Amino acid sequence: MSASFPLPHRSGAGGRDPAPIIALPSNLVASPIVESSSGPCLTDRLLFNYQRCNRRAFLELRGDRTQKDPPSDYLRKLKQDSSDHSQSILLNYQPLHHPVYPSQDWIAGASATLALMQQGVEHINRGVLLKQNAQGLFLVSTPTLLIKQPGQSVWGDWCYVPIDIKLGKKPKLDYQIISTFHAYVLADAQGVWPETSWLALRAGKLYAVDLERQLPRMHEILQGCIQDLQKEYIPEVFIAHSRCDLCQWFSGCYSQAQAQQHLSLLPGVTPARYAHLQALKLTTVEALSVANPARLAPLPGFGEQVAEKLVHQAQAVLENRAIPRTSPHSYQPFPLLPADLPSADIELYFDIEAAPDKNLVYLHGVLVVDHQAKTETFHALVAEEPDQERMAWEQFLRLVLQYPEAPVYHFCPYEAQTVQRLAEEYGAPLEHIEPLLERFVDVHKCITDAVTLPIESYALKHIARWLGFNWRDLGANGAQSICWYDDWMVTGDRTYLDAILRYNEDDCRATYWIKSWLAEFAQPFWEEGE
Ligand code: SF4
Repeated sequence: MSASFPLPHRSGAGGRDPAPIIALPSNLVASPIVESSSGPCLTDRLLFNYQRCNRRAFLELRGDRTQKDPPSDYLRKLKQDSSDHSQSILLNYQPLHHPVYPSQDWIAGASATLALMQQGVEHINRGVLLKQNAQGLFLVSTPTLLIKQPGQSVWGDWCYVPIDIKLGKKPKLDYQIISTFHAYVLADAQGVWPETSWLALRAGKLYAVDLERQLPRMHEILQGCIQDLQKEYIPEVFIAHSRCDLCQWFSGCYSQAQAQQHLSLLPGVTPARYAHLQALKLTTVEALSVANPARLAPLPGFGEQVAEKLVHQAQAVLENRAIPRTSPHSYQPFPLLPADLPSADIELYFDIEAAPDKNLVYLHGVLVVDHQAKTETFHALVAEEPDQERMAWEQFLRLVLQYPEAPVYHFCPYEAQTVQRLAEEYGAPLEHIEPLLERFVDVHKCITDAVTLPIESYALKHIARWLGFNWRDLGANGAQSICWYDDWMVTGDRTYLDAILRYNEDDCRATYWIKSWLAEFAQPFWEEGE
């Protein structure tokens, strides 16, 4: 359910029985879960981290903070964007009241918040709510906002509803669980359940969390979190780039995973598949390398292709070599055909730089490789200002349409999807776009279909580096490019723009490098088939 600002007034009546209001101890000063003279407590922040990674929650609680990595430029940018987003939404809720309390002193924070709620102020920013569970653990909730609503609470004919402000565009489950946690703790403070808990997302919409639906899941996660954090030992490392890339414990975890040759470093070993491999005692690269794929294929989430790929993956790492894949459902000994990876006198290698937070494509990079003339020419079609996106797009179209026969190589589907989207947005004629898209060749798909490599990820960098290609800027990546574009906009310093162009050109050249290697690797199989 979603709504626009400002929040519609809703009744505070809910179908659940609130727990009684707790008497606050006077001397509990705590950070996440700590033992204090009054007992332990657990914050919403720790619960949020736990959902992302139980090891991360453990490290936040008991790890050596000097071992944390400094925040990357991209993480700093996300924090700044998040703060800007929050500020812009808070403008809708004026005047704002802030409970005043010493940092981390949850008891003082809860007392100050309760006092404001009792007065019936309209909006409370960064209030503190506490609830003691049956084991004496204090649950600490700090919603971004508490908004006054009609309804019967312990104070009279008003109650409060929580809102968390999030930078994300979608109401992710981990956001919803924390919102549910806020409602659960708030019910204790005001003696009535809020009808919902809101998420204010980037798209400018409010999302109402379905508390009835999320409450059982929240309890399950909360119990798991409490139990895991009471254990003495640190949870096993599991590297999953989607969640680890922005984590400040990454360097330590990654070193440990490498030292152990942990299976999570093999592409395709997800947490769910790892649990099945553990049950079969296939927990080392050596053990997996000699496993029979037919034994793995029937497992949930595997299948023949995945089973073969995982065993090949372990073999490739142990032997440090590329292993051709097979086509189990056809007579083809090698799945890639010459037509899948066409070669031509002139070939184009294409890579886009975009800032999703601004919905902006700021660079189309195209490397034109002329095998006859033996030339390689890089074209950077750049929007130096966001309002030049259309101009850069039209320059790109003019360039690629000059080579109507040339295959256009790119890495992953994003480039093709973006060309389609920009064509629709800027009204490019279909008779130009359809033949252009037919010339697109996704090198990522070609290589992952055809070969297993001894690498940790099939991202462009991992593949090209294993094949011997090096980027000129060691720290360059897509997230850094977005930060550089912001820096260019703020400072006007062209060194940032130059760094983006250099990085983009290297991405195009890396794609060319992989394509050339793959065509050479495939050649003997293609000759056999002639
Ligand atoms: S780096 Fe990954 S495994 Fe380590 S704490 Fe962070 S999210 Fe968890």
